[in-house]
Amino acid sequence: MNDNLWKSFIDCFKSPGVTRNFIDYYTAITSWIQNNKHHFSVDLLEKNRLDILINLNPNIYVIEDPGFPLAMELKRFEKNIPEKLEIFAMILGNRLWEMVTIRGEECPNCEGDEMRYLLAEEISTKDKKIILECNSCGWTENIDGTLWSGGRVAILPANKEDLKSLFIS
Ligand SMILES: [Zn+2]
Repeated sequence: MNDNLWKSFIDCFKSPGVTRNFIDYYTAITSWIQNNKHHFSVDLLEKNRLDILINLNPNIYVIEDPGFPLAMELKRFEKNIPEKLEIFAMILGNRLWEMVTIRGEECPNCEGDEMRYLLAEEISTKDKKIILECNSCGWTENIDGTLWSGGRVAILPANKEDLKSLFIS
């Protein structure tokens, strides 16, 4: 991938406090993507849900424990310079997704990952529904464990409040 783009990404770690907590870290990465959006095609942004991720309010969506150590992030990135922009976009998408999605049970399909709670909004009816999705293999199910049939929906991570309303009702 483009050297200057990579350098500029690594530079964003050098501002003080970037890895102080997950909210600041999420904010730093998504602002960097906003500022460098023109380097990515719309397809690439959508495919990796970066279009959704850069518009989420970190104060509402970033979870308490995404399950990786922040102190290692710069090293982790520096060690593996992505060869292609496609790979870089995928790595960014996965990392950000981990920071805003609440984990559920282990995926019954690949058993390699925990499923994440998502909010699916039917585009025509605006009906909202909480579903579970595995980011590794794409398996999606309803919260009662039956296979989710999909449809034309807009997907967002389900935040704490969404889950609260689900488990109360
Ligand atoms: Zn899976």
